[in-house]
Amino acid sequence: MRIGSRISIFGLGYVGLCTAVCFAHKGFRVIGVDIDPKRIKMIQNKKAPIHELGLEDLLEKSVDSQKLSCTQDCGEAIENSDISIIAVGTPPQHGGSYDLGYLRSAAIDIGKALRTKKAYHLVVVKSTVLPGTTENTVKPLIEENAEKKCGSTFGICYNPEFLREGSAVEDIFNSDRIVIGEMESRSGDILEELYRRFYGTQLPPIIRTKVATAELIKQANNAFLATKVSFINTIANLCQAIPETDVTIVAKAIGLDRRINPLFLEAGLGYGGSCLRKDVRALTSFSERLGIKPILLGAVQDVNRMQPYKVIELAQKLLNDLKGKRIGILGLAFKPNTDDVRDAVPIEVVKGFLDKKAHVAVYDPMAAGNAKQILGNKVEYMPSALECIDGADCCVVATAWPEFKALGWKDFAHHMRTPIVIDGRRIYNAEEFGQRLKFAAIGLGNIVPKRDFRKTSLRRQNLKGNRAR
Ligand code: NAD
Repeated sequence: MRIGSRISIFGLGYVGLCTAVCFAHKGFRVIGVDIDPKRIKMIQNKKAPIHELGLEDLLEKSVDSQKLSCTQDCGEAIENSDISIIAVGTPPQHGGSYDLGYLRSAAIDIGKALRTKKAYHLVVVKSTVLPGTTENTVKPLIEENAEKKCGSTFGICYNPEFLREGSAVEDIFNSDRIVIGEMESRSGDILEELYRRFYGTQLPPIIRTKVATAELIKQANNAFLATKVSFINTIANLCQAIPETDVTIVAKAIGLDRRINPLFLEAGLGYGGSCLRKDVRALTSFSERLGIKPILLGAVQDVNRMQPYKVIELAQKLLNDLKGKRIGILGLAFKPNTDDVRDAVPIEVVKGFLDKKAHVAVYDPMAAGNAKQILGNKVEYMPSALECIDGADCCVVATAWPEFKALGWKDFAHHMRTPIVIDGRRIYNAEEFGQRLKFAAIGLGNIVPKRDFRKTSLRRQNLKGNRAR
């Protein structure tokens, strides 16, 4: 068997599990390793522990075809694979840096298992880390526990992951590029060969470089994306102060400039999720430790910190006092097509309304269970979007789920006590909604209704009609 036909993947979360099923789908023999026995059991039972488009289907096929198996036993995984990919979490820790506890422990386990292994083994770090981590933390831990030197019977690469949650499977199959940070050329050659076999004729550009450069590429990538988001939100905030302006048109026009491109130019409530925030914070503190003041990154984060409260300001403008008002929040996940609420902006929006003593009803098609662990019983969890807005004084769109896009102005007019809608994700036709409802949106210059919204409150008319009968 060629080196690289058998892969073990440490950490079966968003990155690890999606990578595992994609490699299994392409015919590789994959062994997944996780410290969470419940997760292992679910995967063995072909149930995805996380929500990702297309994941469950590929998981079922991979387990059925015996291309994917799972274990908690690191030794078994190392012995039966040639390449180990580490995709464990690197959560934020106090002070802005990463907590490397999971990574350290995976490196120790792998090192111990490599001690008795004769054949060459490649260890690939995929978790997001700061420059120098693979060299100064992972490598010594593996060497010490393996009682071998890197470059002898094992090698190490750093291979950042750029997938987007919600489209992780698709992103892995259609990667923009592969970055390989290599300690020595043998390990880089093996990893490049692995990707050549995975992608066949669809091979994306491959960038081979030093490990620290590869680590910095991942950091720079996320910092740039965050900068784009804060930039367009800065313009959005400006638009709100200029009548007749609309940030979505500004973004469309500047996005057509090939030097800018339209992606990540969607004004809204700011960036959230498990990666962008912690990565920008980590790069900022890393930079400060090196004595370089990251002025731009500081501004990017300042803009982002304020952005969730823009919808609360809008609500206050439209409702005056929020105390006791019923606010329907549509969306809790940090973005559509995921159940992930880690660092999710909608959760901050909910907390902001609770601080103003509003009564908050929430609905999310997938993330309510995860959100409940954070918000507890402080909010009312509704079983559908329409029930969430029913009887509300104000509705805020916090996640751009397709099912919210499908709601028309009549749905709000029918169901809400007062049809006041704040579009935090710019999913509605501002002109149409602005004509019919009291409508405000991030980056929309004109929040004054063109006609008296009370005349279009269908709920009010229905109630009157019912009373007359
Ligand atoms: P996750 O929290 O969803 O999953 C991590 C998994 O690792 C968990 O199942 C956990 O039980 C397991 N684990 C922890 N320690 C372990 C060990 N010693 N051995 C085996 N398994 C262990 O994390 P994630 O979102 O998949 O992120 C993984 C890494 O990839 C992070 O560094 C993250 O920053 C990076 N990343 C994430 C994304 C994303 O969109 N989620 C994108 C790019 C990069």
